[in-house]
Amino acid sequence: MTGLAGGAGPAGGKGPIGDGPAGGVRPDSGVPLLEVRDLVVHHGQLQALDAISLRVFPGEVYAIIGANGAGKSTLLRTIAGLHQPTEGSVLLDGNDVTQLRPERRARHGIVMVPEGRRLFGSLSVEENLQVGATYARPGGTWTIDAVYDVFDWMRARRHQRTGQLSGGEQQAVAVGRALVANPRVLLLDELSLGLAPVVVQRIYGMLPQILATGLTVLLVEQDVSQALRVASQIQCLLEGRTTLEGRPADVTAEQVEAAYFGLASTASAGRPGEGSDSLWPG
Ligand code: ATP
Repeated sequence: MTGLAGGAGPAGGKGPIGDGPAGGVRPDSGVPLLEVRDLVVHHGQLQALDAISLRVFPGEVYAIIGANGAGKSTLLRTIAGLHQPTEGSVLLDGNDVTQLRPERRARHGIVMVPEGRRLFGSLSVEENLQVGATYARPGGTWTIDAVYDVFDWMRARRHQRTGQLSGGEQQAVAVGRALVANPRVLLLDELSLGLAPVVVQRIYGMLPQILATGLTVLLVEQDVSQALRVASQIQCLLEGRTTLEGRPADVTAEQVEAAYFGLASTASAGRPGEGSDSLWPG
């Protein structure tokens, strides 16, 4: 397995992984902004998700981690309305949105940055941002100008064709396109995919600014170190099932590795970095 770790991991194998969330605080009670209940999703005969549940509270960053094929994108796409579940439900602010089409969900504030960005490469930066405004939730504060304030390089290059931008710049445009839709919950699918670690850091560096506007984030990451750094709550998927859920500060590196690879969850997993497959650099 390669490309899992984008930055410094925990220094030791024992004990908690983080010392607190970098983004958002998880409340103990209250109504979650986004809730998924016992979601079962099939792709034809293949069961991609088996009874997945999660609760994302206002203002927090919730990260789904897991290896290739674990079901992460299927989960995000189902929340966005791009797959219909076989069983289970998706709730926004306590209201069941499971039957709503993706554009209706966007108008209610569930907006996704898809894996691979899916930009129009022949259109300019600004035209791509205008596409994002098509299904914008009414009443929000995000505008194209506000996006330019977050990503200041974008304003000067707003007439450039998006296909001419670097991978990191394109990822920023994809995030900007989602923001102009005025999300309440921003779904981020593998922001780090195909990007150098330093670029990934820069992209994630904008999260605090985005959270400060009142947004809530549910993200999917294969880059475990990155996910643990920014999340207030994580859930690990393996072959469509939940193998671990908790606050980064409450889970150990061994627990995460065991959940990620499907190993027996014992303390004998050794230090992160040991063995042939590791989530962290050695
Ligand atoms: P990756 O990081 O590789 O995208 P993932 O954790 O996001 O992995 P999914 O893309 O959700 O996983 O895939 C979960 C399972 O569903 C995999 O076995 C995958 O092959 C299968 N799958 C995903 N999308 C489809 C589809 N449209 N049709 C058929 N099978 C699919």
